[in-house]
Amino acid sequence: MSKQLLFIPGPVTVAEPVLAAMGKPMIDHRGPEFKELQASIVRKLQPVFGTTSDVLLLGCSGTGGLEAAMTNMFGPGEKVLVAPVGVFGNRFAEIARTWGVEVEILDTEWGKGVDAKALKARLEADTKKEIKGVVLTHNETSTGVQNPLGPLADSIRAHGAYSLVDTVSGLAASEFTMDAWGFDVVCAASQKALGVPPGMAMVAVSARAWDKMKTVKSPRYYLDLQKAREFQAIGQTPCTPPVSIAYALDVALDLYAKEGATNVWARHQRNTDAIVAFAEGAGLQLFAEPGMRSVTVTAIHVPAGVNGDEIRKKLRVEHGFVLGGGQEKLAGKIIRIGTMGAITQTDVLAMLGALEIELLSAGLKIQAGSGVQAAVRAFMGPVPA
Ligand SMILES: *Cc1c(COP(=O)(O)O)cnc(C)c1O
Repeated sequence: MSKQLLFIPGPVTVAEPVLAAMGKPMIDHRGPEFKELQASIVRKLQPVFGTTSDVLLLGCSGTGGLEAAMTNMFGPGEKVLVAPVGVFGNRFAEIARTWGVEVEILDTEWGKGVDAKALKARLEADTKKEIKGVVLTHNETSTGVQNPLGPLADSIRAHGAYSLVDTVSGLAASEFTMDAWGFDVVCAASQKALGVPPGMAMVAVSARAWDKMKTVKSPRYYLDLQKAREFQAIGQTPCTPPVSIAYALDVALDLYAKEGATNVWARHQRNTDAIVAFAEGAGLQLFAEPGMRSVTVTAIHVPAGVNGDEIRKKLRVEHGFVLGGGQEKLAGKIIRIGTMGAITQTDVLAMLGALEIELLSAGLKIQAGSGVQAAVRAFMGPVPA
């Protein structure tokens, strides 16, 4: 099987015009073409973040963006409240600890979203303002949970702490309004819903975050956001940027604008709804609680008696569909299906058909077609009798 469609939650299947853009000849990264390219990308990214503030392009994966956010905003002796809901939230906390930032965890059971009331109560109890920052994961890729950010943002604004948000697997797949929510540093990456190969992180920074950063004395070199901002002002980056990824991102943002943001969001929702309908139709349990489900990754419990890794291997080798498995304590327990990137309704139906075949072959006791039929119904909406 040579053809593979990625249904993993990043990297994703990349549209042909985006891939083709990577074949352009190399340019001087300190010349006029790159200056125009960077400006074009930033101009198009700002509305995706919902901000008029700076958006910086960093040559690194998403984690580099998270590390940049943490080390530029906080240092030893400062306390942040991290609200992880899975592996990536824990990673953000680990980055803070690594750099000597004091971490308090607002714990949430995996599969659930952050309890807005609990966050509000914790912040209201912090009358001495010992919490300097609140760290959120918008879309937790390891559990298929997406936190509704509005209520969380409200209580952070009321408290006054700075906010860092990982929307690496969320941005561009649903509405994101950084300025309206009042977030300070928001991190994304090229290889998720923006549909570009890996290699670039994007970090949006609020005006007051720039002031805060000037007071932070902890060491940084490659991921110095203030330096990145100074270079961006003259149309450059401090070090050599991933130029080919920049070309690809520029084209991906054009495709995004052409399809229209609301249509892009609706597409992610529709594909996710079909996968959820499939799971319910096939009698499978979803991992994330209703109301907190991601539109970019759907986590499904592997049914008892079925080997999830074996199913995924069959899908990859025999059908050409690559699905995600569980991470850390969820290894072997869930299957994660990503809906980011250049995949169509036809792709989703084909993938679900193959998944149902393999589940039936593995002995799952369901009526053949019950999952796929539910997905077809979900795609069609109300059908005339
Ligand atoms: C993919 C992802 C990251 C970053 O991963 P990298 O491999 O460093 O790009 C961070 N947070 C979330 C929620 C992600 O999905």
